[in-house]
Amino acid sequence: MNPVPYLWRVLSRALVKKSHVWQQASSLRDPDLWDCTVSTAGHLCVADFDCVELANNYGSPLLVVNYQRLLKDIGQMMGAMRQAPEGSKVLYSYKTNCIPALLQVLHENGLGAEVISPYELWVAHKLNVPGDKLVYNGVDKSDESLRLAVTMDVLAVNVDHREEVQRIVQAAKDVGRRARVGVRLGLSNSSQFGLSVDSGEAMEVCREIIAHEKWLDLCCVHFSVTSNAKDSWIHRINAEKALAFISCLQQELDIQIEYLDIGGGYGVPTTKNMSGVEYGLYRTFGCLPKPADPLMFQAIDLFIGEIVAAVQVSCMELGLKIPKLLIEPGRFITSRSEILLAKVLSVKTKPNGTRFLITDAGRLSMTFPAEFEYHELFVANRMQATMNTNYQVMGRICTSADWLAKNRLLPEAQPGDIIAVMDAGAYFSSYSSTFAFPRPAIVGVDNGKISVLRSPESFEYLTELDHF
Ligand SMILES: *Cc1c(COP(=O)(O)O)cnc(C)c1O
Repeated sequence: MNPVPYLWRVLSRALVKKSHVWQQASSLRDPDLWDCTVSTAGHLCVADFDCVELANNYGSPLLVVNYQRLLKDIGQMMGAMRQAPEGSKVLYSYKTNCIPALLQVLHENGLGAEVISPYELWVAHKLNVPGDKLVYNGVDKSDESLRLAVTMDVLAVNVDHREEVQRIVQAAKDVGRRARVGVRLGLSNSSQFGLSVDSGEAMEVCREIIAHEKWLDLCCVHFSVTSNAKDSWIHRINAEKALAFISCLQQELDIQIEYLDIGGGYGVPTTKNMSGVEYGLYRTFGCLPKPADPLMFQAIDLFIGEIVAAVQVSCMELGLKIPKLLIEPGRFITSRSEILLAKVLSVKTKPNGTRFLITDAGRLSMTFPAEFEYHELFVANRMQATMNTNYQVMGRICTSADWLAKNRLLPEAQPGDIIAVMDAGAYFSSYSSTFAFPRPAIVGVDNGKISVLRSPESFEYLTELDHF
């Protein structure tokens, strides 16, 4: 007998067993965390709508937006930002979940927009987002989109690389209006994004911007550092670095910066990003990591409060006027309020005991983030049943790469059951694809009301642009 595969199996089994213990002890088994309830029939409900009926009536898979949860999360963030200096703004990161009907709700509730592509800028324009609540980031800004941004007088076009400066100058000349610009700082030396501070590149680009003062108004310094942070420390450390840079700008170029834009990354207590080791163990041994623990996440009030305090202290030390803050949360605003419902198509038990749960949603079409984030799963029509069965939860694309969750402990399931994937409101629809199947509908549920935010794609829609 070859000892290597044997040891591998033993190790794998031990790790999966450990994972099952974690899954069973998970504090995420409470649907109330997502403002969901359980009916007397044991079904998961959102705003009094039975998820099983929703999937039956609107088709599966189905994305369901829970407005009650959404408004709560918006309210928490807006409340937290009351600690920030007057004139500070919350701009939703469009790439997190670019569904126009959803964005409309966010704008109605006071959020602005942070866009990273000509398409997203166009959507913001369509939705009548005022320039004063709009920041244009990203690495590929077309000339046409730059002209639109200048015309809309966006709060800042943030320069990612130096080649953009001349192009923004040209757009401003073409439109005949001064452009408000910012610089994106790459605060770590290996950063792919932004301008390096340590090498002097960021300062040189600022000099170039000032040299074009007639057309460019340097008003913003931006950085974005992480995603799903549990607490404020990465944001604080980087805000301090950015303020030190602003202080240099003031001393060397005699300019004051109106906005400090600290990007996204505010964590959601009901998901977590896998660490490098967790990801490795998951991919190698199928050991699903420990679930997120909501108690480990700093409340957003405290998170923002600590950043604001750190900014005040730094400004005092550096002798700077306190800038207004821009924040660009994506995940925090929409993650928790959206649920993906998927149907169980088949349960296959293999001779070696492996159980495959074949569903109509996997990572290649719908659930890409679940590959590197922990997401809670429920069997929506069996909420009270004990979790006693180990499943390889798979999608419907014909490749073993289309999984949803490996070694997931769930109540025993049958064809027709509905699986609820929680926290589907961040980067699910953005990453969704038309791999062999059209993309599903998105509906919104409110107290007693249901609305369609996006119709399901049809076969005709998928071939509309083909020439044949
Ligand atoms: C993606 C992104 C965000 C949003 O990040 P979250 O982690 O979802 O909050 C904000 N700003 C920029 C520049 C981004 O690229």
